[in-house]
Amino acid sequence: MDLKAKDLLEKLKIEHSLSTDEYEYLLANRDEELMDLAAGYAREFQKQHYGNKVYIRGLIEFTNFCRNDCIYCGIRRDNMNCERYRLSAQTIIDCANQGYELGFRTIVLQGGEDYTYSDDMLCDIISAIKSSHEDMVITLSIGERSKESYQKYYDAGARRYLLRHETANPELYRKLHPAEMSWHNRMECLKNLKEIGYQTGAGFMVESPGQTSYDLAMDLKFIEEFKPDMCGIGPFISHKDTPFANENSGTLDTTLFCLSLIRMIYPEVLLPATTALGTINPKGRELGILAGANVVMPNLSPTDVRRMYTLYDNKICTGEEAAECLGCLGSRMESIGYKIVTDPGNRAGFN
Ligand code: SF4
Repeated sequence: MDLKAKDLLEKLKIEHSLSTDEYEYLLANRDEELMDLAAGYAREFQKQHYGNKVYIRGLIEFTNFCRNDCIYCGIRRDNMNCERYRLSAQTIIDCANQGYELGFRTIVLQGGEDYTYSDDMLCDIISAIKSSHEDMVITLSIGERSKESYQKYYDAGARRYLLRHETANPELYRKLHPAEMSWHNRMECLKNLKEIGYQTGAGFMVESPGQTSYDLAMDLKFIEEFKPDMCGIGPFISHKDTPFANENSGTLDTTLFCLSLIRMIYPEVLLPATTALGTINPKGRELGILAGANVVMPNLSPTDVRRMYTLYDNKICTGEEAAECLGCLGSRMESIGYKIVTDPGNRAGFN
């Protein structure tokens, strides 16, 4: 193990902060021993704040229409091979009801940036779910909207919002997104969400095309400074109908190491072991939990539309019923000494 890297890891464990150059040094000098040490420290913090609990969030992917054209994304606007769907308000509410019956107390309403769903329509859906299930926490993941819109959803009862920043480097952002998309606007949205009072989730892709270890270090520094309540990271996985079709996907090891570092940077953070991690390795989600993650997000969308929500190729769990998915995840977590719990699972210390 590189001794300087080991010293930096010890420093991070105590101070929860490093310079961007120091993060880069860690990333560039990781070996198996350093990764094991980082995962061990990450699990100490995970256990301290969350015990052996893994929180579940029921994911409802309600539309794969999107006005944007992010270069890496399988449901980008210009992908003419993408079979599109939208769920009706009633179907979304039915999915939430089914999730509630299965024990879910948090759902994530996720979709492309699809303005067919107006603010009024979204507020009606949120209010309907909340009026049937007061204890259900609603998370939105519907991209960039105005601060006024975010406020309306909050007033209707939504309390969490996921908006990955994708990369903390504006230059790399420009390479991954079309010219009309703005890194500054994305950062502004994140700031607005926090100001309104949402538990706010950011996140980034690991080893996206053109990303350097310094770029990744910038992401870690951003997490340290912005302190999102949740942080969703996953390896870049190519999609055959995008300009990045032939790019290499991100690796399991770099993603796991980043998960451990994030847990050490912000011990209280809610950290999902994402579906993308489970896609690049059959045990990816278990390894993610052992690297410091504490959230998994089973799919509650109707099974007939799941195969259409393919942001990347070979996505797992597209055919299983929600109950089946939950049972499978439960036993996977038990096999590594953790248990899934159904309570809403706020970020430790959030009030
Ligand atoms: S990454 Fe999100 S915003 Fe970009 S094209 Fe895909 S769904 Fe739309």
